[in-house]
Formats: sequence, structure tokens, C-alpha cells
Amino acid sequence: MLERLKTGLKTFREVTYKRYEHIYRDLEATQDPHTLFIGCSDSRVSPDILLDSDPGEVFTVRNIANTVPAYENSQNDLPTVSSIEYAIEVLGVEEVVICGHSNCGGCAAAMGQSSKLDKLPFTQQYLKPLACVKEKIEAEPEITDAKAKARLMEKMNVIEQVKHLKSYPIVQEKLKKGELEIEGWYFDIKSGSVSVYDEKADRFCRSEDYQAVRV
Ligand SMILES: [Zn+2]
Repeated sequence: MLERLKTGLKTFREVTYKRYEHIYRDLEATQDPHTLFIGCSDSRVSPDILLDSDPGEVFTVRNIANTVPAYENSQNDLPTVSSIEYAIEVLGVEEVVICGHSNCGGCAAAMGQSSKLDKLPFTQQYLKPLACVKEKIEAEPEITDAKAKARLMEKMNVIEQVKHLKSYPIVQEKLKKGELEIEGWYFDIKSGSVSVYDEKADRFCRSEDYQAVRV
């Protein structure tokens, strides 16, 4: 085992576990998370660090480019769909966050900005549904810069995945009853800021401003 991992486990056992021991004991037999976080598998997007959350608070699904298949394509990604189903139907989460991020390799690959994809047949197949987002960006004639296109892809991908999530009957039912909230987030790795998609304004706002608007 890598030395770094061994050291981490030792620190967890001797320091971190002790800090959270009361929570682990309370939650030994069950969990009651309030939020489902759907994020990218990217090693820089760590939900517990991002949210400063305690054990038991956040149920997590992570995959390349934080995707959710549309309801009609749900069979294409059962790990993601079953996690969503479980979080909503069994755990009764009150909030779902779909969080994209800057410099997302999955989004870059879907934009055709990565040569690595040629060697990755499974990833190619997996990223196919993102082609519709790419097409929307390519249709914007004023955006020609590759970096600008990449940032837009990452943000529009979040909006698309929120739309997909809302296509599920169980989600629609919970939204209708006011038992669920869905938010699209964008994490900028360089600045550490998170912006939230405001559907009415059709733009991402800084999370601080978004809270102010909602209050
Ligand atoms: Zn990513």
C-alpha cells in the first residue's frame, strides 16, 4: 500500500475518527443524509471538503463529468440512477446538488479537446449524450476561444444534467410536493468559488449572492 495512504489511515484512526466518534456511534446502524451530491470523479472535487460536511450528511454519486442520464436513457447508467433512486425514495434527501467544475477532463473530451479519447472506447460511449451540449456551444458563433468554450461546456453540462434529473417521475413527484430542491453548481478550482445556477435568470450566480436572492 502506498505509504501516503497508510499514513492517512493512521491519522484517521487516531485523530479524525476521534473527532467524529460521537457521530459515527449515533449513525452506526443507519444514515440520514439531507443531501445527494452528484459530482465529477475528479480528484479535486471532494464533496466533504467543499461542503465542510460531517459524516452522514451527504450521500454521494460521482462519475466522469457529473452526469445523469435522461429518464428515457436510464438503463445506460444504472449505478448513477440506482443511487439517485435510493437517495430520493429510501433516504428521503431534501436537496440534490449537481456540481460541475472548471478544467473538467470529461467535458473537454466531450468537446473533442482531448486526444486521449481515441484510446478509451468505454469513455467515448459514455460521453456520447454530451454531444447535444457540444452542439449548442458550437452553434454560438461569437465564442471562438477554446478556453471559453470549455468553461461554457462545463456550465451548460450542469444545466443539461439538472434537466435530465427532472425528467424522472420520482423527482417530478417530489418537486411537485415541495419535498425536494435541485441545484446546479459550478466549482471554480482556481478561485475556490462555487456559483449556483439561477434558473429564472438563466445564469450562474456566486453562491453568496444566490443565497441573498433566495432569502
Ligand atoms: Zn470533471
